[in-house]
Amino acid sequence: MFCPKCKSEFVKGITICPECNEPLVKELPENKFVEFVKLCDSPNPSMTAIIKSILDSADIQYFVRGENMQTLFGGCLEFTNPRLSRVEFLVSKEDKETATELIQETEPEKEE
Ligand SMILES: [Zn+2]
Repeated sequence: MFCPKCKSEFVKGITICPECNEPLVKELPENKFVEFVKLCDSPNPSMTAIIKSILDSADIQYFVRGENMQTLFGGCLEFTNPRLSRVEFLVSKEDKETATELIQETEPEKEE
């Protein structure tokens, strides 16, 4: 049983989500659950923009985590802690392989 609101899974016997007070459903509305996995880190806004354009042009759905910091201080990043300006890209598990290949092709330097 799942809560349609917070998407938590509950054991049989529970019919209402204790968190949201929502009646539980057998299956979540979106049957195709997309699992997002970490694709890579972006150390700076220009890399972020590059990765975004790659994913956009490949029609790959993605999430960016921690981007607010970059957007917020965009243009004056020297005043911010570089560790805070790092963002993480997340893509669906199915797209990860494709996305990784695309990004590796453009990565200027390879670690390892
Ligand atoms: Zn809930």
